Amino acid sequence: MADREHTAVAIIGSGPAGLTAAIYAGRANLAPVLMHGPLPGGQLTTTTEVENFPGFPEGVQGPELMALMEKQATRFGATIRQELVTEVDLAHRPFTLTTPQRTLTCDALIIATGATPRSLGIPGEKELTGFGVSTCATCDGAFFRDEIIAVSGGGDSACEEANFLTRFASKVYLIHRRDELRASKIMQERVLKNPKIEVLWNTVVTEVQGQRPQGVTALTLKNTKSGDLSTLPCAALFVAIGHIPNSGLFRDSLPLDENGYIVPNPNSATTSVPGVFVCGDVQDHVFRQAITAAGSGCMAAIEAERYLEQIAD
Ligand code: NAP
Repeated sequence: MADREHTAVAIIGSGPAGLTAAIYAGRANLAPVLMHGPLPGGQLTTTTEVENFPGFPEGVQGPELMALMEKQATRFGATIRQELVTEVDLAHRPFTLTTPQRTLTCDALIIATGATPRSLGIPGEKELTGFGVSTCATCDGAFFRDEIIAVSGGGDSACEEANFLTRFASKVYLIHRRDELRASKIMQERVLKNPKIEVLWNTVVTEVQGQRPQGVTALTLKNTKSGDLSTLPCAALFVAIGHIPNSGLFRDSLPLDENGYIVPNPNSATTSVPGVFVCGDVQDHVFRQAITAAGSGCMAAIEAERYLEQIAD
């Protein structure tokens, strides 16, 4: 039978939001228990150099930053477990979280489940994931040394991935559906100045060609203006077209906006359920930065601490 356990504060998610919440709750002597899924450290562990997190003037690798945050959280008494939460009951108190290993009850819950990379939903994409189709340049870029690589997207992620991939690739095509990049000016400049990157404007990928286990051989492209189809021979496609909030567990218990983001109360990490707090990318469709996620994790932990003091009175 699965174990049963109770904690004052449970945290779901181990990105910058969840780990910052764990640091603050740990320092408040609340001995938080943090549960995370198969990607410890969250999305930052799939990124390359983080140049804009304060305190690292030379930049820091995403996985290293997350390892440091985890070390800091455990130093203050947080327990961190790789256990996927499959069910939550927020209608009864204490709240109940179910994982394959145990049933965890908690007086306060901090949700920091983040967001998942969006996929194109085109033929060949799913079938060839892990065989040339990827959403993580850091993880998979080095497999395509001296090959031609394509990146789909026009935001900061796509530009960052395209730049990073030029370390390995002989050439990188950045495929964007419009004639203007969404990315910040500095990222745009880096892409446009990089001699190894060619931007294919007004273009979408309609099919990934190839087979397992040999991998991707080409992409079918469509010009969004003319409708013309073409074939681009390449060895890999990195999809970097944004994210979907990981809010499915809370669909029935918390208000979500039209894109699935959890809606906190204004200027707060509190939600419509007292004792349930939300932070990080699962509630943020505007900034989605490591530093804003960390800041909101801090807010969630401070508000959770105040809530626990209130219910103890
Ligand atoms: P994003 O800003 O939402 O950009 C997504 C891109 O993918 C857009 O260019 C969009 O095209 C395109 N796209 C979306 N769906 C598509 C589809 N079905 N087919 C083809 N193209 C599609 O997402 P992001 O780049 O992941 O960035 C998310 C946030 O993280 C942003 O706030 C960003 O600034 C931040 N970020 C920052 C850094 C950094 O500062 N170093 C690095 C990465 C991310 P349209 O432009 O036409 O909508």
